[in-house]
This record gives sequence, C-alpha cells and structure tokens, in this order.
Amino acid sequence: MIAVFRDAAPILKKIEYAGFEAYFVGGSVRDYLLGKKINDIDIATSATPEEVKGIFGQTIDIGIQHGTVMVIVDGKSYEITTFRTESSYVDFRRPSEVTFIRELREDLQRRDFTMNAMAMDKHGTIIDYFSGRDALKQKKIETVGNANERFNEDALRMMRAIRFVSTLGFSLEEKTYDSIVQNRLLLAKIAIERITQEFEKLLTGKYSKKSLQLIAETNLHEYLPMLKEKKQAILQVSKMEIDYLTIDEMWSLLLWKMDITANKEIDVFLRKWKLPVKKIKKIQKVVAALLGKQKNKWTCVDLYKITLEIVCSAEKLSMLIWEGKSIKDTDYIKAAFEKLPIQDKTELAIHGKDLLNWSSKPSGAWIKEAIEAVEYAVVEQKVKNDKQAIKEWLESCHLI
Ligand code: ATP
Ligand code: MG
Repeated sequence: MIAVFRDAAPILKKIEYAGFEAYFVGGSVRDYLLGKKINDIDIATSATPEEVKGIFGQTIDIGIQHGTVMVIVDGKSYEITTFRTESSYVDFRRPSEVTFIRELREDLQRRDFTMNAMAMDKHGTIIDYFSGRDALKQKKIETVGNANERFNEDALRMMRAIRFVSTLGFSLEEKTYDSIVQNRLLLAKIAIERITQEFEKLLTGKYSKKSLQLIAETNLHEYLPMLKEKKQAILQVSKMEIDYLTIDEMWSLLLWKMDITANKEIDVFLRKWKLPVKKIKKIQKVVAALLGKQKNKWTCVDLYKITLEIVCSAEKLSMLIWEGKSIKDTDYIKAAFEKLPIQDKTELAIHGKDLLNWSSKPSGAWIKEAIEAVEYAVVEQKVKNDKQAIKEWLESCHLI
C-alpha cells in the first residue's frame, strides 16, 4: 500500500474497532489505480456522523447535514462521510434528502461514474461492484447505471464527465455521451458556483483541448453562462497549444477569442460566472496588456506599469495568439524586469515630502503626478535614481 493510504489506514482500523465499516472511496482510489498523484483521501463509513464524532476526540463538522465530519490525525485532515443515498432530486440541483445507510454498495451506487465508485479497504483490497477497473482500463467515463436517470438526478454530472475528460484524457462512453447531448438543457438549472468549479478544473486539465472540443460538439456551451453563441471561439481555443496556461490565462484567452476585451464587458461576462472581483480585475489587466501589445511593443515603462506577473501572462498569450508558439517559461521577461532601475515606487530615492520641501507650492494633486513622472523618468533612465539628480531633473522640467 502506498504511503498516503498507509498513513490513513489507522483511521479505518479505529472505526472498525468501534464496530463499523470504513473504506477509502472515490477519487483517491481511482487515482491510486491509475498511478497518479493523490489529492485528498476520502473515507466512507457505516457509522453515523455522531458515531464518528464519538470515536475520534478531535473532529470538525464540515458538512454534517451531508454526513461529513473532518478528523485530524498527525497534522493531516481527512473527511469521513457516512454511507448515504440521495433519494429524491426534485429540482435537478441537489438531493432534497440525504439518507444515511449502513451498506457500502448503496453508497457506491449513488456516485457519478464507475471509475469513481470503487472502494478500498485497510489492506488495499479493491471493492468494485460496477466495473470501475474495466472503465479505467478502457479509459472510459461511464455513469453508474442509466445515464439519463443519473443526469436528471444531478445535471452537474455532465460537466463533471467532461472535466474528467480534461484531467484524465479519457473518452465518454457512448450512452453517457448521447445522454449529455440529450439532457444538456438541464445544466441551466444548476447553481453557477458548482458549474464554475468544474469548468475551471476543465480549463486547466492536461487534456483541456479535448474537453473544449467536446463541449462544443455536444453543444453543452449553449447552457453555460455567456457562452451560448460562442461555439466558434471555443473551437478555436480547443485547437491552440494551451498546455502551459494558468486558469487566469485561460479565461483571458477565451475572452480574447470571443472579442470581449473592454473592461466593462469582461466584468459582465466574468460576473455571470461568479468569479471573485480580485480575479476579474487581474484578468482585465491581462487582456488590457494584450490589447496594448497588439498596438505597440511593450516599452520599459509598460513593463513597469503593468507589473511582472501580468506582463508574463500577456506575453505567453501573445506568443500563442500571434506566433502560434506555446511558451512555458517567461524568464526573458523576468530578466528585462529585473534590469529596470526600479521595480516599484517604494524603491524611488525621493518621497512626496521631499517635493514639498523643495517647492513653494502647497500640497496637492501635483505631488502624485510629479512622483509618477519621476518614476517613469527613472525607469526610462532619463534620470538617475538619486535624490540630487531627481531634484535637478524636476527643476529642469518645472515640476517643482
Ligand atoms: P478530484 O481528484 O478532482 O477531486 P474526485 O473524484 O475526488 O476528483 P470530488 O469532486 O472530490 O471528485 O468528489 C469525490 C467523490 O464523490 C467522487 O469520486 C464521486 O464518487 C463522488 N461525487 C462527487 N460529486 C458527485 C456528483 N455530483 N454525483 C455523484 N457522485 C459525486
Ligand atoms: Mg476529490
């Protein structure tokens, strides 16, 4: 058994010692069988949340209504979820009722895809009622049971299917594929936050090109926020060498290809996806930097103003869009940035109060403007970053 499971095995033993069943389940078992890095280990048990809390001294209620309790062992946290079924799905969104059960099989049956519906016991024995291992061997994403029923219960599973295409490079099993085409309109009923979470994983998966192609091919995009008429842009992006792009760069590229480049439009678009304001602002800056580069090459003042992180992102995108080159490394931009006489206003040899001392003018907006002028003059090496030199330069420009 590999280390991550060996470390967690005492948890299973402890639950079993108390008279219940406990297994590793879901993504960690799948990734283990695929020989991939394991993100987080999920544990499922026949014990109710109250019983789990009784077994472990230190627990945190993180989703008690869904049956999940977090335990911390040796500084690592583990989520322990009670076996459950999700009985009626009245609004296509979330199960209206969670019922705790004592049977592992039933718990595995409510899971989305066969590859995600396996369990592993403390000895490393795999429990596989729904041929998950076959699916892994054939690299197929297949719902547990009837695809139409499963997507009607929770339409988010359609997005999850395609995001697993992106992260694993698998294909959709035929009925699962057909069912997505048939049921895609149900996606309109799903909470945006849940869609965004899956879409962002999809955009940055190793096989994101394949999954974007699938989104367009199944017309799923028609029911995704703001993407209804954007099939062409999605297809264009799916043909680009997008492997090295971060999530913010992917959003920026999509916006660029959709011709959404004005700050206001970007804001409207990304707010529909409920992205945080900070992230929206960053993406706006990347797109603005791209627009700037489209008109002119970046000068050292641009480099300084736009900031290193944004310039590096915009550089990666510009190479991709205009040169068809996929670059991983933007060290040459970093080198150019480091060569700038100053990288930040705080490195300037003067402060606002120096200007006040030197000038007879009262304090006012002119100080900010003069400081900015000094910053750019220093960056362009028109003046040395030295107090006396700056003073003389300001005098020569009649700024003080
Ligand atoms: P990742 O490694 O990306 O986290 P994962 O398979 O662990 O992949 P999670 O979203 O963490 O994905 O979900 C954990 C498990 O819960 C899944 O493997 C699956 O068994 C089950 N699951 C998650 N979401 C759903 C859903 N919408 N419907 C049914 N089962 C689900
Ligand atoms: Mg997971």
